[in-house]
Amino acid sequence: MNAPSPVIDIASQNARQKTSGDNSTAAFDVEKIRADFPILSQTVYGKPLVYLDNGASAQKPRQVIDSMSDIYETYYSNVHRGVHWTSQKSTEGFEAGRQKAAAFLNAASDNEVIFTRGATEAINLVAASWGRANLEAGDEIILSHMEHHSNIVPWQLLRQEKDIVIKVAPIDDDGNFMIGEYEKLLSDKTKMVAVTHVSNALGTIVAVKDVIRLAHAKGALVLLDGCQAVPHQAVDVQALGADFYVFSGHKLYGPTGIGVLWGREDILNAMPPYQGGGEMISSVTFEKTTFQKAPHRFEAGTPAIAEVIGLGAAIDYLGAIGLDNIAAHEHGVLQYATERLQAIDGLTIIGNAKEKAAIISFTLADVHAHDVGTFVDRAGVAVRVGHHCAQPVMDRFGVAATARASFGLYNTRAEVDALVDALEETRKFFG
Ligand code: PLP
Repeated sequence: MNAPSPVIDIASQNARQKTSGDNSTAAFDVEKIRADFPILSQTVYGKPLVYLDNGASAQKPRQVIDSMSDIYETYYSNVHRGVHWTSQKSTEGFEAGRQKAAAFLNAASDNEVIFTRGATEAINLVAASWGRANLEAGDEIILSHMEHHSNIVPWQLLRQEKDIVIKVAPIDDDGNFMIGEYEKLLSDKTKMVAVTHVSNALGTIVAVKDVIRLAHAKGALVLLDGCQAVPHQAVDVQALGADFYVFSGHKLYGPTGIGVLWGREDILNAMPPYQGGGEMISSVTFEKTTFQKAPHRFEAGTPAIAEVIGLGAAIDYLGAIGLDNIAAHEHGVLQYATERLQAIDGLTIIGNAKEKAAIISFTLADVHAHDVGTFVDRAGVAVRVGHHCAQPVMDRFGVAATARASFGLYNTRAEVDALVDALEETRKFFG
């Protein structure tokens, strides 16, 4: 790939946008938003970068980048331990990040927010800590057929230890979660339902409120994987009635290396520690150690300090724009993209659920997904190709891989046009 060049073809990008009808409003000015993301003004292969791989990881606004430079340049120190100014200031910034994450999810208390390395670690934490303490042989866990591997494998590791049973709630041919079939799987042995809020591979939005209601009626807890939901819609864990909710900062326009496990405080405080070390203890002797309550019980060792501050800045950024405005904009882009992609000869969209977030998986005639990805890349368009860490759902649709365009708040209809042009060229090239 060429080194990013500062020479940008913004004028032609803007011209395309005007003709394609991006309807920015006072509340949502997509050009103003794009200007906050330095990377979006780069060119690749001499073409404007069209970044449609937000489901894998989103780009970062200047506000997030600056917040992280700022701590390293002016007040960085370890947190929670120091009496000096930099430590106090870092601790304040770090705990403000926790407050922001709690408010973002409408948690009942800041203590319900545990910082992890990401969604993967958050799910592993629940499986290892809650799962080991609460499950016995024969107990059942329900997952859906469209889970990311990080919401499958931790439960399988637990199954190796505990001889639990994993059941899979099916999806229909459009990728809708089959709530009636799920209900039939629930039994008195069901102890946990762990499902995605939004599928990363299909874009399906799961009716998680119904999932939770039915699980609770059987006395089971519910963990929601919110990785692909939080960038696209406002989430209120209390209104949902969830027990655990997880997401990764880097998909939310924040930094890598930071994620959130939200859990109900009573459940968290009844769970044993996940890792041992500094920060999570009340007192240590060689004979006996006592532990802090949540959240510190689950945050052993020095945390990702600048990353929490960056995550807080990302949450502030999205809050200032408004998640409802973001959802409305992305919905328009999704509709436009769906119509335009459907019109391409030989293109099949995998996943046509009734409720979808801004993610479109597709195959293009018999062109291999990796060839699609490589070809459109030369036109400056970044899409994801492969199994998207969701092999079971690929098997469900009988494909080894798909190409996936996943949109974010800064994407425009002009960029959809660029993708469509590149796909038309790909189709012509491969005959
Ligand atoms: N769950 C879903 C639905 C995802 O899309 C992803 C990442 O693609 C993950 C979990 C894992 O996130 P991370 O790798 O940030 O831990």
